[in-house]
Order: sequence, then structure tokens, then C-alpha cells
Amino acid sequence: MSHQPLIGITGFETAFPQPPHAPLYATGQRYVRAIEDAGGLPVILSPGLSNDTLLATLERLDGLLLSGGGDIDPTIYGEEPHPTIWGLDMNRDRAELAMAQWAAQTQKPLLCICRGTQVLNVALGGSLVQDIETMQPKALRHMYDQEVTPREQVTHSITVDTDSLLGELVNSNAAQVNSWHHQAIKRIAAELKVVATAPDGVVEAIEIPGHRFALGVQWHPEWLYDRQPEMARLFSGLIAAAKRA
Ligand code: MN
Repeated sequence: MSHQPLIGITGFETAFPQPPHAPLYATGQRYVRAIEDAGGLPVILSPGLSNDTLLATLERLDGLLLSGGGDIDPTIYGEEPHPTIWGLDMNRDRAELAMAQWAAQTQKPLLCICRGTQVLNVALGGSLVQDIETMQPKALRHMYDQEVTPREQVTHSITVDTDSLLGELVNSNAAQVNSWHHQAIKRIAAELKVVATAPDGVVEAIEIPGHRFALGVQWHPEWLYDRQPEMARLFSGLIAAAKRA
């Protein structure tokens, strides 16, 4: 029997839809499905854990997926919040920044998606464009209404650095991606390398060179992997690295 690696997926705090709205921890089902379909054992990580419990949990994991979600508190990277900032969650920021730093330091296989990519950059000292549409008005559209545009619809191309982990995984110098982010990487952390960009120059993927597997993508491969094989390889690559780790 082959060893199935245990992959932590970051969750967030929400509330039960009916009164009395009991607090919940949750994550997107698509992340869980993608890890299971790639051969991993998915577990949801609660952002409310104490630092000690979080570290003890991380030490049991073979790999980590930092999921999408609301914005990171801009004061963490030294900026005043832009009016479009939404979904701030102090506990989630604290937990995920610690997880990203831990994965970077321990060579733990790490796949970051959307907010997760922004977390990795901020955790290692980078900063963010707080709102692409207002701060870079010449940029392409990167945010769509999810009730109008299906999540699995690709909306822009990316250019991929072939001399990178992402380049190896997609096995091409280009790809088509979906896009629902209103923020992007501004100052890239010294430890990171940009490995994909949109036609307008917006950063779409980052990596830690020399790490066994530390990749962040700004798009949502969890909605594409069952129709685009190169996107399935982001998840199977994480699982393969976690098996070797
Ligand atoms: Mn985009």
C-alpha cells in the first residue's frame, strides 16, 4: 500500500446560516476534493488554534495548502487600508503567516492559492497592491462576479518561466487561467521569485527557489484541475513532493 501524505488545508471562521449562527471553521470543498483526487489525505486546519497547538499539528503534516479568502490586514506590511479591503481576519492572518514561515524554513511542501500566495509573500517580507482596479487602472480585469462568470471559466493568459517548478509542472511557457483576485503582489519578498505574469505584468505565480516544493499561484486551479491536466499537476506535484519529504 502506497503512503498517502497528510495535507493540511487552511480554514477560516464563519457562522452557521440559521440563527443562532453558531461559529464554524470551514474551507472550500474544491480544495479538499483536489487534494483527495491527487492522492492525498486532506485535513482542515482551524485558524483559531493556539501557536503551540498549531505547531504540533503542522509537525504531523506532510504538506500544506494555503487556501483562498479575504484580504490580509495591510498594516502587517506597513500600509494604511484601502477602502476596498474586505474580509479581514486577525486570527487567520496570524495562523497562516506562521504556517507560511514554517513551511519556508522546514522545506515542507507548500502550495498556495490566491490569498495563500499573498500570505506567502507577506510572510517573507513582501507587500501587496491593495486594489488592482483602482491602483493599476491600465491592468486587465482580474476580478469577476462569481454569480455571473463560472469559476471554471478561464479569463486571461499567463506567461510561465520554463526554468521553474511551475514551468516543469505545466510543461509550457504559457497557460490559460481563471481570475478572481482584486489584489496582487507589489514588492516581492527577497526569498521569492516571480515565475508567471499576466499580459499586463500582474504577478500570477511565485516560488521559493531551492525549496523542494513551494509554489504560489494567484488563480484557482482547484476549479480547473478536472478539465485542464496541467492544473491537476499542481496538486499531484504537491502530493509527490509530500511523499518524498
Ligand atoms: Mn489574474
